[in-house]
Amino acid sequence: MSGNESRQQAIHQITNRTPTAVTQPEKLGDIWADDVFNLAKMEWALSKNAFKAIKKTVQGGTPLDAATADIVASAMKEWAVSKGCKFFSHIFYPMTNITAEKHDGFIITNSDGNAITEFTGSLLIKGEPDGSSFPNGSIRMTNAARGYTAWDPSSPAYIMHTDNGATLMIPCVFMSWTGEALDKKIPLLRSNDAMNKAAQKVLSLMGETEIAPLNSSCGAEQEYFLVDANFANSRPDLLLTGRTLFGAPSAKGQEFDDHYFGAIPARVQVYMQDLEDQLYRLGIPAKTHHNEVAPGQFEIAPYFEAANVAADHQQMMMTLLKSTAKKHGFVCLLHEKPFAGINGSGKHVNWSVGNATQGNLLDPGHTPHDNLNFLLFCGAVIRGVHKFGPLLRAVIASAANDHRLGANEAPPAILSVYLGDQLEKVFQDIKEGKLTNSNSGGEMDLGLDQILNFDRDPGDRNRTSPFAFTGNRFEFRAVGSSQSVSGPLVAMNTMLADSLNWIAEKLEAELKNNDQADAVVNVLKELMDEHGNVVFGGDGYSSDWHEMAVSERGLKNIPTTADALPAFREESVKKLFESTGVLSPVELESRFEVYAEQYVLSIEVEAKLVIDMAKTTIYPAAMSYLSGLAKTGKRMAKLDIDLDNSAAKTVASEINAMMAAVDKLSAAMEKHDFASTEEHMQFCANDLRSLMEEVRSHADVLETEVADELWPLPKYQEMLFIK
Ligand code: ADP
Ligand code: MG
Repeated sequence: MSGNESRQQAIHQITNRTPTAVTQPEKLGDIWADDVFNLAKMEWALSKNAFKAIKKTVQGGTPLDAATADIVASAMKEWAVSKGCKFFSHIFYPMTNITAEKHDGFIITNSDGNAITEFTGSLLIKGEPDGSSFPNGSIRMTNAARGYTAWDPSSPAYIMHTDNGATLMIPCVFMSWTGEALDKKIPLLRSNDAMNKAAQKVLSLMGETEIAPLNSSCGAEQEYFLVDANFANSRPDLLLTGRTLFGAPSAKGQEFDDHYFGAIPARVQVYMQDLEDQLYRLGIPAKTHHNEVAPGQFEIAPYFEAANVAADHQQMMMTLLKSTAKKHGFVCLLHEKPFAGINGSGKHVNWSVGNATQGNLLDPGHTPHDNLNFLLFCGAVIRGVHKFGPLLRAVIASAANDHRLGANEAPPAILSVYLGDQLEKVFQDIKEGKLTNSNSGGEMDLGLDQILNFDRDPGDRNRTSPFAFTGNRFEFRAVGSSQSVSGPLVAMNTMLADSLNWIAEKLEAELKNNDQADAVVNVLKELMDEHGNVVFGGDGYSSDWHEMAVSERGLKNIPTTADALPAFREESVKKLFESTGVLSPVELESRFEVYAEQYVLSIEVEAKLVIDMAKTTIYPAAMSYLSGLAKTGKRMAKLDIDLDNSAAKTVASEINAMMAAVDKLSAAMEKHDFASTEEHMQFCANDLRSLMEEVRSHADVLETEVADELWPLPKYQEMLFIK
């Protein structure tokens, strides 16, 4: 096949494709959580005593005794086998953004040679995958490679169906044999604990007598692209890196804004329905779906859940988005920037903290007392974002997300907090000493009525802020579409724990000499004096802000992952994680190493592919066009016809320039002597990326010059608009 034959064939196949059969949507009540071994199923299957014990473990974290573990395991197996499972797997979440599984059969043979099924409590509770095949940073250097998985009962087991059968999946933590966290789940659970402890202190100082355990919640809005598999499969860059490394802009892009909230294409609707039925079976509350800004881009948002469960569900959702796309002849792109010049994909992480007795602490309440609690928690978030902005930037840092942040479609790489006009004014008044308890009289005596009447208006949105208050929660908007939500949740919970600890200390001192309202206002005034600079309600995309944020507010603009990841090595960050018990210095350092390595590797893979595609795909196409032009030119000259050869000249000079850039990039790839990981990352961020851009810029001009029938790669307009 030569030239664009494969493109034409792809178009032909898409045009003539038999639509995926539409199955009748099933009734929600029939399928909801059908594949989940949740408390309801346990209650059905277990004796009263066993159920009581496991419920305590699931809800309260009390360890499970061996006898009950055996009973639960056996019931779980019976249920799974009755639903067609032959295998079980501990599923865990290594420091990459993916999930890992190790499958084992239920089957064993007994001494009579008969096959029986077996699943003991110890198999349920503990597994032993080879730790050395997963990234573990310096932890592997200091310890043996062995790793353990251990069941996390707070996230229920479930059944995953694939074409070749069903498997019982058991959500697990993953640790080294010395107990260091090698995964994303352990820090998330620990950060929730740290937040709970600190919040308890503050709430009891506020006079609360009954305080249920606090939990963080997460609702993540997931954006993604769908591209027909016929196109995606003829683009090595999409297959290997998830984004187009080449591609001239389409004549029509997203400028008409005609895709956002438009009618969902029929084929995509069928896909979404299929996906959602699977999600419902897994007890994942998919709630909203719609088109996104870019053509071919969509969003799905589940209803929020406890952060730990939401994080596991998010991982399942990403797996299912991809596998379901395959069934429907699509490839689902979760990359943050699949197409240059077209909006990228993010994952807004909506986050709040609360409990059964005080409710959502980020929800302004209906009494002045509730509002004082709310203001303290909200203030704690403001302090956290200010103090640990660089950490928040680091936990969302990846080669892919760097393309998106600050590109006028996603928040800038400067961490600020948006509160909305009214709440911003409340905090500003506190800072300026204008807002005091009405009884004691302040400068303007606005009184606490202002807070009481606080009108939360979720419609009041600022889409340009990376961290926005949206009525009863904060929304971290800078998270990338392919990322695990765990990292951001760990950072948010931990910075909140740190701030609440600080608040508790200050509040305790203030309460000795003041009534409660004055004490709270005094603490918040000190907090705002130190950290109020991070509050910004204006346009986060404007260049004025970029200038002002850095020069006047002292905030940091951290454009690349190479600049961001060193935050993990800062003393303040080490102290934060160590003092809250979320990550030891060794665990923190291992995260720096793993993320840095992933960054370097992903840019190097892209660079290799740029060289490869330029040489073996684009160069031959451009050369065959050029030689055609040259032959025609010669024939015309023989006939004394004077042909303007400017096209040939442009093509020739672009080919030369592209190949010169390829040579420079190849030479750069030979460099290996880096003094430090930081230096290596900077080299990737600055040298390799700009050389890749240079190759691309010439290749993209060639795409607009070379005859369409010779161009080998599916073009932007085809991938974005043909469904
Ligand atoms: P948007 O207008 O930003 O699309 P939605 O109302 O669709 O907002 O909600 C976005 C996400 O926020 C959903 O996943 C929703 O469940 C979640 N969410 C709502 N309230 C909370 C909360 N208190 N804590 C965490 N997430 C929440
Ligand atoms: Mg949102």
